[in-house]
Amino acid sequence: MPSPARPVPSSSLAPEPTSRGARSPVPSSVVVVGAGLAGARTVAALRQLGFDGTLTLLGAEGVPPYDRPPLSKELLTRPGPAWLVEDLGIDVATLVDDLRLADPAVGLTLPDDDAHAFAVTTRSGDVVRADAVVLAVGSEPVRPLGWETASVLHTTADAAALRERVAPGLRLAVVGAGWIGAEIAGVAAGAGAEVTVVEAGATPLERQLGPAVGTHLARWYADAGARLVTGVPVVEVRPDGVLLADGTQVAADVVLAAVGARPATAWLDGAVPRDARGAVPVDATGAVRDVPGLWAVGDCATRDHPVLGPVPGGHWSAALHDPEPTARALMGLDADDAPPHPPYVFSQQLGHDLALFGTPAVTDEVVLRGDPAGGATGREAWAALYVEPDDGTSARRPDEGGRAVRRVRAVLLVDSPRDVGAVRRLFTRTPRPELALEQATDPSVRWRDLAAAAS
Ligand SMILES: Cc1cc2nc3c(=O)[nH]c(=O)nc-3n(C[C@H](O)[C@H](O)[C@H](O)COP(=O)(O)OP(=O)(O)OC[C@H]3O[C@@H](n4cnc5c(N)ncnc54)[C@H](O)[C@@H]3O)c2cc1C
Repeated sequence: MPSPARPVPSSSLAPEPTSRGARSPVPSSVVVVGAGLAGARTVAALRQLGFDGTLTLLGAEGVPPYDRPPLSKELLTRPGPAWLVEDLGIDVATLVDDLRLADPAVGLTLPDDDAHAFAVTTRSGDVVRADAVVLAVGSEPVRPLGWETASVLHTTADAAALRERVAPGLRLAVVGAGWIGAEIAGVAAGAGAEVTVVEAGATPLERQLGPAVGTHLARWYADAGARLVTGVPVVEVRPDGVLLADGTQVAADVVLAAVGARPATAWLDGAVPRDARGAVPVDATGAVRDVPGLWAVGDCATRDHPVLGPVPGGHWSAALHDPEPTARALMGLDADDAPPHPPYVFSQQLGHDLALFGTPAVTDEVVLRGDPAGGATGREAWAALYVEPDDGTSARRPDEGGRAVRRVRAVLLVDSPRDVGAVRRLFTRTPRPELALEQATDPSVRWRDLAAAAS
């Protein structure tokens, strides 16, 4: 299976450091906690910007940074990890002074009047001191209490264990029809496994995309050879399957819990404030407010966007792009002129390609472009536009052609990878674009023309 269409990593890093716009002394030592995508991108950005102080990178998995999206999409076709040294050319071993891939942080002490440096305590008992700390610890899969026998898919080790089991005839129960549950269901069913996906919500991806869109995704499961059960929560996970709230038992050889992930920040208890999700709230540069020298990037952060407000991490694109402006700010450099990257999630599931730009809200009105049944082939492009409610404050003025425009909070593209660039441009330029819905919902009007008209 091919890799998902992804943006090329930003190349706007200045090759030479500059003192232009320096606002605060550049720290002489930095600890980056977390050796995943966001951590690797942080150390790479710091060095490219000319940081020549001491750089420490702490990891937890004992392996160099790798990319997670292929773990599900390419579970059976890519037996080894997608190392970032190969995919992005980031070789952390050559970038940092102190690389500890299997010595995770277990405690953080902030500087105070007596100690002028942060102190990061690691599992081995070491204490690493530094002028600045970047939290890049990502997230960890949710595994409810009592679900100990369920598998999860988060690391390359999880993928290796699941890969061993997936084979024709395997009875696989996937709990959760979210992004990862759907991806694995399709891959395993395609390999001849008997897959049942159990979802407590009314539709797949209900929480992420809303029921109006989720309802159109349900048929994908049957088309891919997987059984989908919705609207019934799992109340018990057993070694031989799951028990549903309505008393139904689903027999399974393997149960995969795919019920979400939460920021891996429990070890920061008492040291750093977090939001309800467990993420570290940061400003638009990644700085933790009121704690100079402390930064957070990637899945473990909720980052302020100048137009959208707080945007939770949890997706690849933010972990790729956010470290660069954070490294600039950490070094006291001016922000570059590039607008922030829009929230973007991609997925390949059950034979379909999804790209979501923006952040849908439950109150949005959903309007469709094209046929959500995928036309005659079942795979023709369609899209869903999430339109801000017309509460009198949203835009509803006529455009140049006299058509009423509405403010669009998000666009989901289905099976239209060629439109990803145009929609990304649209959302980069204007995070809440104003579109004439009459045109935007007409599939004969190209996204690139809509993007040009909205600028
Ligand atoms: C199977 C799978 C498929 C996915 N597919 C998609 C997709 O299609 N599209 C998409 O947008 N996103 C996808 N994602 C999400 C995406 O991979 C993440 O958003 C991205 O990896 C976040 O990067 P990160 O560096 O913030 O966190 P991570 O990749 O989680 O890296 C954090 C690292 O920090 C380490 N760590 C944790 N705690 C500590 C500690 N205390 N000390 C030191 N190290 C620590 C962790 O072990 C980990 O290696 C997928 C995720 C998974 C699991």
